[in-house]
Amino acid sequence: MKRWPRKLLRYNEIVLILLSILIVLGSFNFHSMKSQASRISTSDYGSAPSSEHVYDETDVISQWYRYLDTPGHSEAERYIASVFEEYGLNVTTQEYTAQREDGEVRAANILGYLKGKDADKCLIIGGHYDVHEYSTHGAYDNAVGAGTVIELARLFSEVENHTPTTSMIFAAWDSEEGGGAGSKYFLDNMPWQTDIIAYINLDMFSLNYPVKNNIPLSNEEYYKMNIYTSPIKDFSRYDDIEFNKSTLGNFTKFREILENITYEQYNYPPNWVPVMDDTVGASDHRFFIERGIPGVWFRGLNEKPREERDLNEIALKHTPIDRLETMEEYAGGKEELLKGIDTGLVISYSLATQILESHNVSSSQNVDETVSENFGEAGQIAIIIVTVGIIATVLCYVFIRRIRY
Ligand SMILES: [Zn+2]
Repeated sequence: MKRWPRKLLRYNEIVLILLSILIVLGSFNFHSMKSQASRISTSDYGSAPSSEHVYDETDVISQWYRYLDTPGHSEAERYIASVFEEYGLNVTTQEYTAQREDGEVRAANILGYLKGKDADKCLIIGGHYDVHEYSTHGAYDNAVGAGTVIELARLFSEVENHTPTTSMIFAAWDSEEGGGAGSKYFLDNMPWQTDIIAYINLDMFSLNYPVKNNIPLSNEEYYKMNIYTSPIKDFSRYDDIEFNKSTLGNFTKFREILENITYEQYNYPPNWVPVMDDTVGASDHRFFIERGIPGVWFRGLNEKPREERDLNEIALKHTPIDRLETMEEYAGGKEELLKGIDTGLVISYSLATQILESHNVSSSQNVDETVSENFGEAGQIAIIIVTVGIIATVLCYVFIRRIRY
């Protein structure tokens, strides 16, 4: 074999080492570019809670007829899971069997998990995405609630972009219209071993304060935002449950935080945005409260007079007119509807933030954890690539030396 001149081989070695370094840098750069690209789509909504985003998600989700075991239901299920994935949440599609009038069908809760510093505790924010059989679009009941869960998931995972003090679960429940079977199934079969510190439920709102009551003959100035909480005085809805002292203490603390946000931080008028004991229970929050978990249900209400001094809701729910267009019409335009969405959105966002703060874990440990977790995935991939690069370089060097001697 012809021997290469000594000097040329040295150049070859240098070129190989440089090439390896370039490959390492190139793949790392490609990785970071890729993760940036997948995040662009949601940054249009800014860093604060965006009612515009909730509106857009309501528009997307309400295009599908989401009655159990229908093609539209599957579309919505896939869509919500893909959005949670885009936000970097750990997504679980929790399948179970639900009862429909004509028999048993497949149903699925979509759960987005965000790991907190204290993973033994979690805060859950949820709203159902299924519809009643006669609700062709289900925009008010409850694409708007599912859309708000998506917006809150964006805020806590993308915008805040740091590890929350406790874990969070963003839940799009299924078969709420079948008596809340989805959230009930979840509570009996939780995929993560963690204590639930509180639950925030979003189901049927936006037609609420500060949206003016446009209904003819109504003497009510605004539509109401009813904020139903785990009870502290009126236990009529939960009278078969014995809450112990510490549970009642948690309910009281939760109520104080919520009232403080609603009336001190945002100055909402108590008569149009009443925070009160849940005496209704007609949504997923009921199962959480029954288990002693502090909970809240945001429920807008548009009312018309039935008799003198008697108010009755003009119900969109469970009808084909439950569409985004009808909501806008009732609100008196898109801008008004956005203001109505804002009420539920900003209160629930502040509530979640303050619950996470009040369960803060000790400080020095957190700093280390935050640093290592922020370093996280990208850091690990970079280490793997650098290691592979170094090994490749060494192997090339050895190989060349073998040819030489
Ligand atoms: Zn509903």
